[in-house]
Amino acid sequence: MSKPYRIAVGGFHIECSEFTPYRSGEAAFRVRRGQELLDSHPWITGDTSAIDAARLERFGAIERIEGVEWVPLTYAGALPGGPVTNEFFSAWLDEFCTLLEQAHNEEPLDAVLLTIHGAASVVDLEDGEGVIASRVRQIVGKDVPIAASMDLHGCISDLLFESCDLLTCYRTAPHIDVPWTHERAARALIKVLDNPGRTLYRARVNVPVLLPGEKTSTEVEPGASMYAKLGVYQLQDDVFDTSIWMGFPWADMERCHGAVVSYGYDEQAVRDAAMAAAQDFWDNAGVFEFVGPTDTAEGSVAQALSAEVSPFFVSDTGDNPGAGGTDDSTVFLREILDAYRAQGSTKRVVFASLNDPAAVEACEQAGVGAPVRLAVGAMNGGVSGEPVMMDGVVDRLFDEYRSGGKSAVIAEGNFKVIVTTARTQFGCSEQYEAAGTPFDAEDIVVVKMGYLEPDLSAAAKGWVMALTPGAVDQDLPRLGHHKIMRPLYPFDELPFDPHLTVDLLERA
Ligand SMILES: [Zn+2]
Repeated sequence: MSKPYRIAVGGFHIECSEFTPYRSGEAAFRVRRGQELLDSHPWITGDTSAIDAARLERFGAIERIEGVEWVPLTYAGALPGGPVTNEFFSAWLDEFCTLLEQAHNEEPLDAVLLTIHGAASVVDLEDGEGVIASRVRQIVGKDVPIAASMDLHGCISDLLFESCDLLTCYRTAPHIDVPWTHERAARALIKVLDNPGRTLYRARVNVPVLLPGEKTSTEVEPGASMYAKLGVYQLQDDVFDTSIWMGFPWADMERCHGAVVSYGYDEQAVRDAAMAAAQDFWDNAGVFEFVGPTDTAEGSVAQALSAEVSPFFVSDTGDNPGAGGTDDSTVFLREILDAYRAQGSTKRVVFASLNDPAAVEACEQAGVGAPVRLAVGAMNGGVSGEPVMMDGVVDRLFDEYRSGGKSAVIAEGNFKVIVTTARTQFGCSEQYEAAGTPFDAEDIVVVKMGYLEPDLSAAAKGWVMALTPGAVDQDLPRLGHHKIMRPLYPFDELPFDPHLTVDLLERA
């Protein structure tokens, strides 16, 4: 048997809204190293027990990749948040590069596989992934192929495109094909190693479109057809793979726009594949719609307070922590609480939730049942608004098991606000039960989220996505981008000439 290929694997995964003073530091990240890193990839272990049967049915079995010695570097992953602190990123990158150098010096690596998001903004650095990939290139040299397996909401900067030989991304949003994407990148690397001496071409076409997350679902049209055309697996000789990046809208950088990358051995076919997918994306630019009903903040409050069904859900989309919201914005809380008080409403409302450790502590000190008068939320200031005064009682103290930690419920009459010690998202029914606010006990559930997670969507008798301002405002043009490419839809009105052109690079 021939000697196994020696392939290093590691990466960095976070998406960062730049429209927030919140920073993602060490505490926000979970770092995997060694065996733990390898065990997180079913195509390395062959163990698919963590993947549900429906997905295996849909995307096919994942087989263990044979004939490779996988060399674990380090992988840091976090919930979406604000820009990464320079301190944490530098420390992580130093460790990553040291491990890579050691591995390469010990015995030359044949390839490197990076699993990265593509929207890591780093304080004073911006293009986190481009920096990672270019450092890898410096260390391993031009002959060792590098693959990047990414989130479709990531971005392809020039530096990233130049530094990686193969770039691919998820084909589903919500992202249910993550391990299959990484596996596809790994198998493409092996194909390159199996064919030494063949020239590999890669083509990129930038697409001047930048959509908010709640418009990029691949479960509905036009996203469903656009991504279905790419096929789940290709790896044919002429074109191995074509992928479409929607880009990341909540950062103000040159790299933030749509892109398509194809790669393979046939230069013309690679060019044509990239251009065809880019043209398709462009032709659909104005067709993408929000995945659910939307309204202004004011309109959503009116809908909720007058709804004749219970529970009625409102997504506070501008502060969705699942996309990078600060989780402490009071902009929508103030809107609905003012109207609630003015109308003398007695509807049962739960606001889930506000990250405010000081408020949790004040509630703990007061004790359950004690009256409290507290200014809550907006500790980040800026897009988070101003603290809101609650005049009520401590309804409950509990532990929010997902990531919120010690938490409290403040009740002003029938209006309840959940405050948590750390950022979290109330995405499943158990969390509401722990807070003493199960769905069937509420008339209105306000949640910091975009489209509803399955438990919420199953319980909702009515729903609106409130297009609230915030760190992840779905109304992109009002955020005030300055560095993005122009023209760019929807910052510029259609129609305009997209100037679709192919950037071609080759690996000899
Ligand atoms: Zn994504």
